[in-house]
Amino acid sequence: APVILWFRRDLRLSDQPALAAAVASGAPVIPVYILDDDTPKHRKMGAASRWWLHHSLNALDTDLRALGSKLILRAGKSDAILSALAAETKASAVHCIRHYDPWWRNAEKAVMNGLSEGTAFVCHDGNYLLPAGSVTTGSGGQYKIYTPFMRALWQHMPPPVPHPAPTKIPAPDNWPESDGLSGWNLLPTKPDWSGGMSEMWMPGEAGAQDRLAAFVDKAKFYDEKRNLPSVEGSSFLSPHLHFGEISPAACWHATMDQGGSVDVFLKELVWRDYAQNVIVQMPEYGAKNARDAFDKLPWRDLSDPVVQADFVAWTKGQTGYPIVDAGMRQLWATGWMHNRVRMITASFLVKHLLIDWREGEKWFWDTLVDADYGSNAVNWQWTAGTGVDSNMFVRIMAPLSQSEKFDAMHYIREWVPELAALQAPYIHDPDEYGARPKGYPRKIIGHKAARERALKAHEIVKG
Ligand code: FAD
Repeated sequence: APVILWFRRDLRLSDQPALAAAVASGAPVIPVYILDDDTPKHRKMGAASRWWLHHSLNALDTDLRALGSKLILRAGKSDAILSALAAETKASAVHCIRHYDPWWRNAEKAVMNGLSEGTAFVCHDGNYLLPAGSVTTGSGGQYKIYTPFMRALWQHMPPPVPHPAPTKIPAPDNWPESDGLSGWNLLPTKPDWSGGMSEMWMPGEAGAQDRLAAFVDKAKFYDEKRNLPSVEGSSFLSPHLHFGEISPAACWHATMDQGGSVDVFLKELVWRDYAQNVIVQMPEYGAKNARDAFDKLPWRDLSDPVVQADFVAWTKGQTGYPIVDAGMRQLWATGWMHNRVRMITASFLVKHLLIDWREGEKWFWDTLVDADYGSNAVNWQWTAGTGVDSNMFVRIMAPLSQSEKFDAMHYIREWVPELAALQAPYIHDPDEYGARPKGYPRKIIGHKAARERALKAHEIVKG
């Protein structure tokens, strides 16, 4: 009897324990990807993620075919599809990699309950450095704060050496029916906004490995370069890691002996694990303030047209703050934004515009190619000051001095062409220097006024 290999956000062939186990069973393997928009409900994948998924599935199918296999596509609810497919193919087992998004944890239970007795359901670890929930405090509790979590996890590193892809995958005599990928309409049409994304990214395992190879030599300079948006100092691995096109263990082993500040990079991989630990403990983290006191904060009301206009200006990169506008336009064009600029733009929405972090989280969810429930929620709550481990709300980032400090001139010139002719320091704050060209907006709110409004709103939280 064949075994089913259920792909989700683990779209790779190397260091893929579910695939390794399926192949090791000696049985024919039926790889399947299910487009399931019902299980995640309002958390179904955003538009940028769908673009990525389309190309990643194409790449995975090509890679599988090179090993004598192929990818079966089905759309619908995961548990229903898998029990039907298992019955149809008389599969003896379903192998998958475990995921921690709350809806996937529920789906794993539903799949297990839905399969008939003759079909085993086997969940493997492998998308994180360690299984979420497995790093515990001395007394067996869960860590809520990053630093002690990181220290405890570090004791177990390095992760196991990644294993190579199989050289052949046994095929069944008869392949089950598959949907056609183009019929899933994952790509944007009218308008097709994906040009900038195609230019920047190569979804799939080969693209992930190229990114990693290009980063290895840079890893030792990570700490000095990562905060400079004008420089390519980080790894650009986030969408590849999110879709599981490369394992974190592979990233760890490729870089760990580079010396310099490579540990700072490895600690970022630990943030990714940390975010999963947070959502396992608090599945509502993407929707609920972790600090209840913030439920009282009087966010500005988006149904007010003035507030709505501010929100739209933020999404379109028309706030009059060059660093914010550059970031939001980079996000729109490429599906990615530099981490320092994510912090600046997120802080601007929450504190300068006093708009609920959940609105920003939703925008990022739709527009990021690396949109990840855990990482997005943890970072938004960190920025907003509402999280279990977070920056203080009253520490209000000054976007203009951040822009100078991290030398964002070239970055701004690239993403805000209206300002391309300006030099530093004028480019950081054209309004202030009287250098604002026609066609570039005035600041939608002054820094001082915004700061005062935010601090006043926060008074209620302090109670
Ligand atoms: P590198 O700096 O090269 O880091 C290596 C890897 O470590 C990343 O690919 C990522 O997987 C992980 N990582 C790095 N920083 C973080 C972090 N702060 N939290 C969790 N993991 C991290 N990252 C996402 O992957 N998905 C998101 O939806 C997401 N939303 C964010 C929202 C906000 C408001 C902020 C401030 C940050 C968010 N991040 C998110 C974290 C971070 O900005 C990106 O992971 C990083 O910019 C990706 O670029 P890179 O791959 O070059 O990262």
